[in-house]
Amino acid sequence: MKIPFNRPYITGKEILYMEKALHSGKQSGNYHFNSKVKELMKLKYGLEGVFLTPSCTAALEMGALLCGIQPGDEVIMPSYTFSSTANSVLIFGGVPIFCEVNPKDMNIDVSKIESLITPNTKMIIPIDYAGVPCDIDFIMKIADKHNLIVMQDCAQSYGSLYNNEICGKKPHLACYSFHETKNYSCGEGGALVVNEVSWRERASFIMEKGTDRNKVIKGVQNRYSWIEKGSSYLLSDILAAMLLAQLEAEEVIKSKRQILIQLYRNLFLPYQRQGVLSISQYGDNKIPNAHAFWVIFHNNLMRNTFIDEMEKVGISAYIGYVPLHSSKMGAVLGYSPSNLFLTDDLASRLVRIPVFAGMLENEIEYVLEETHKILKSITK
Ligand SMILES: *Cc1c(COP(=O)(O)O)cnc(C)c1O
Repeated sequence: MKIPFNRPYITGKEILYMEKALHSGKQSGNYHFNSKVKELMKLKYGLEGVFLTPSCTAALEMGALLCGIQPGDEVIMPSYTFSSTANSVLIFGGVPIFCEVNPKDMNIDVSKIESLITPNTKMIIPIDYAGVPCDIDFIMKIADKHNLIVMQDCAQSYGSLYNNEICGKKPHLACYSFHETKNYSCGEGGALVVNEVSWRERASFIMEKGTDRNKVIKGVQNRYSWIEKGSSYLLSDILAAMLLAQLEAEEVIKSKRQILIQLYRNLFLPYQRQGVLSISQYGDNKIPNAHAFWVIFHNNLMRNTFIDEMEKVGISAYIGYVPLHSSKMGAVLGYSPSNLFLTDDLASRLVRIPVFAGMLENEIEYVLEETHKILKSITK
């Protein structure tokens, strides 16, 4: 049997909504289905100031532009993240400052943030790895004390709850991803949440190539013109239609993933007790959206053997991130792997196994059985 790392889930309603969008006469951004998605987010989670974007990468860039990241501005973020987190500030001349992670959840180690703050620090970008919320309350306290902006990279955490609120509700800015590899997909898509009410109008200009076209769409003006620095950060209404179908099925998708992850946890927990590996640990105030499942083995050899053995039985297991500070671009920024020793070590031992909502019963059985056999053989 072949088990891919991911298989996008299709609810069946996508095609209906997309066809409607196609024939509506409006295919660009900020029309009917964009509004429907935003309404749903507001009703379900109380999210306001949402801007649907072509990707989370675009949302992060739009956020960096919105808070005016300038050459030399320092932005603290975990090294254990995707390139987009760092690129979003780098393209405006900002300087990513990499912070170590907490081995319990692989999110930014909040106890190490303050020591990285300098007079040039402008922003903090935490992420929610595997959909497990970072400690945003603690991060906001640090940010308030030092007058910093927080943009939470919630690419993986749409629908995750922190103190009963969706991730992305607390920081000044938050970014979601609706990429094929995430829980809810429109192929490529994302959103920027602007929680700072006074920033929302400018955000609407920035996303529309620096114009006030939004006012024309709303009918408050009949002409629009160039008034801001901006770019094109809109999500086509055809893709917003696909996204609406996915978000309407959020609870179904989430529970399928949560069931699978619970099965994985039950499988791996005895090995954690033996001390040969560890899995994520987090408090009761966090309810993840079950985006991903990772394991950190005792050593790199064990991790690599696990991946090879999984490959032999047709199951795709994946190493996770190469830490940004250890990457080629990390070296260009002046980092070397030993600068963040802990992150580098954890990354060399981490592995992710397939989590997707459409995994069939017999596929789940197969993965559990084969994984169990491999675990037994490599840990004896
Ligand atoms: C997936 C991901 C992104 C990028 O999302 P896109 O929608 O593909 O641009 C950014 N940050 C993190 C942490 C991610 O996991």
